[in-house]
Amino acid sequence: MSYSDRARGLYLNQLNGLKESGIFKQERFIHSNQSAEIEVEYPPGSSVKKVINICSNNYLGLSSHPEVVKAAHAGLDYRGFGMSSVRFICGTQDIHHELEARVTEFLGTEDTILFPSCMDANAGVFEAILTSDDVMISDRLVHASIIDGMRLCSAEHDTFKHSNMEHLEEKLEQYANKRLRMVITDGVFSMDGDTARLDEMARLCEKHDALLFVDDSHATGFIGKTGRGTHEKYGVMGQVDVITTTFGKALGGASGGCVSGRRELVEMCRQRARPYLFSNTISPVIVSGTLRAFELLTQTTERRDKLEKNTIYWRKGLSEAGLIIKEGDTPIVPVMLFNAKLSQDFSRDLYDLGIYAIGFFFPVVPQGQARIRTQVSAAHEIHHLNQALEAFTAIGKKYNILGKTKQEIIEMYGM
Ligand SMILES: *Cc1c(COP(=O)(O)O)cnc(C)c1O
Repeated sequence: MSYSDRARGLYLNQLNGLKESGIFKQERFIHSNQSAEIEVEYPPGSSVKKVINICSNNYLGLSSHPEVVKAAHAGLDYRGFGMSSVRFICGTQDIHHELEARVTEFLGTEDTILFPSCMDANAGVFEAILTSDDVMISDRLVHASIIDGMRLCSAEHDTFKHSNMEHLEEKLEQYANKRLRMVITDGVFSMDGDTARLDEMARLCEKHDALLFVDDSHATGFIGKTGRGTHEKYGVMGQVDVITTTFGKALGGASGGCVSGRRELVEMCRQRARPYLFSNTISPVIVSGTLRAFELLTQTTERRDKLEKNTIYWRKGLSEAGLIIKEGDTPIVPVMLFNAKLSQDFSRDLYDLGIYAIGFFFPVVPQGQARIRTQVSAAHEIHHLNQALEAFTAIGKKYNILGKTKQEIIEMYGM
């Protein structure tokens, strides 16, 4: 027996440590499909309860859309369940190629390569296109998967202060002697819901002859007038050299991701990116469903327009109720509570009132910045949002934080 009592004890100690410091994560089991209202079993073993979901990435309400489901069925029927191979051996179907072309057209780029997920796209892309003669200059708040991808790459790494363009320019000047400089950012930042200033960044990259990389996972499908993403919002379509994004959020929400951008960079990924070379790509079921999701998006902007309306309504409602939210215009709306325990208590009380939203605290967000991250969807009707606003207001009242400043809340509850 190699897994000795000693080894087991080590892990039990670590896990108990997580429980004692209140950061042990427990999953909630959902018994329904993904939509505005879901049926949830929580805690495990308790009876199933219907609640309004206000924390999913189902931004456009496509996760269970009948047309997407129907297309997924067709994909299963006509192209089978599994590929049983990586792309370059015998794992590429016509529909994989079709989806790549569709993404290229949608994002306004030159070419696209699919990955099993955006996590994998980010894990593979930097190593495939940069060398030890290059430098990666990333915003300090980029997604964890970008950080992992940069770790796998031999290029030098440095950061600039979040969305601070003066600091970015300093860094660009500091590394002027490198073969290539790549500026790296999220389009929409997932914890704060703010957007990168891509117009400024594109201008700086042009001026300093640097490459621009944007992970638009929380934007593709709904940010910008026709939902192309953050580059559309800032009027810089065609000026971002590499876009990575996911199909696991607004685009039906199943799984899969991609690298889209300059033709040669995408080709380098096809030749060299390890998650592409050594892992199966997206199954035909998902390719088919995702293709249909793209079709629905391009036929009409109805869904992203409804999402925009819902977002304005939700942000206004929370502010008027006297809660502190992070300013912005994306459907990611953090309700700031600052104290970790308060965020957990608040989330539990919301659940009791039929609202599903999760509290985030350190290390997912910085110390003293605990919050409930809410996410609006086009699947929400006004009555869902009203019911959620009522619950947020009632619980805000219970903890006496309505109309209070950050300082006052911290005085009451601590950081
Ligand atoms: C969700 C997310 C990812 C990961 O996407 P998957 O396709 O689920 O791996 C990567 N980057 C950002 C910014 C994300 O928000």
